[in-house]
Amino acid sequence: MRILLVEDDELLGDGVRDALERARHAVEWVRDGRHALTALGGSAFDLAILDLGLPGLDGIEVLRSLRARGGATPVLVLTARDAPAQRVAGLDAGADDYLTKPFDLDELLARVRALQRRARGAAVNVIEHGPLRLDPGSFSVTCEGRAVELQRREFMLLHKLLESAGQVLSRAQLEESLYGWEGGVESNTLDVHIHRLRRKLYPDVIRTVRGVGYVIDPAPQARAD
Ligand code: CA
Repeated sequence: MRILLVEDDELLGDGVRDALERARHAVEWVRDGRHALTALGGSAFDLAILDLGLPGLDGIEVLRSLRARGGATPVLVLTARDAPAQRVAGLDAGADDYLTKPFDLDELLARVRALQRRARGAAVNVIEHGPLRLDPGSFSVTCEGRAVELQRREFMLLHKLLESAGQVLSRAQLEESLYGWEGGVESNTLDVHIHRLRRKLYPDVIRTVRGVGYVIDPAPQARAD
């Protein structure tokens, strides 16, 4: 598996990385929250092991941001023993499992294997819609089996519309799902993303509902005969 390790403690991080590599995982190690978020947005990981007490951006915030933008990467959270509230916050923010420090490396590896099994069974995260297939876990989209390279916001927009297929979403709803609290979105930005998705996928993938918003129509049902 390709694993992102987010841990600012050098000694602990070193031990965890070695253990994971001995178990034949590919490990990328970052030491602060902002780098973690960038790494998770930029490439596909099968799992993230996330310390909560991090410089730059708190682990809980990393997790919330990841989930808010539709990132489905399984996350194993590392929490301090004296902070039970952290565990609850971590699970609420979208963690799949947690380990309390100090932990046994064998237990860590067992948890990783368990999450790996679960991820294989949880193909429900993948959205199939007519010729489209969107996998939030790997941030990948195919159209009639052809891989389509999407920018992050294009991916988020497509994901949002596919999740709500058949339902017209307003500009405000879509902009919020793309930009959240960032605000200051230029008025034509959404149109640019829609235009690019139509160009990269196919022209009528997204239908404009004048004065209301945008919709991806439900996929045609397979005929029974
Ligand atoms: Ca820490």
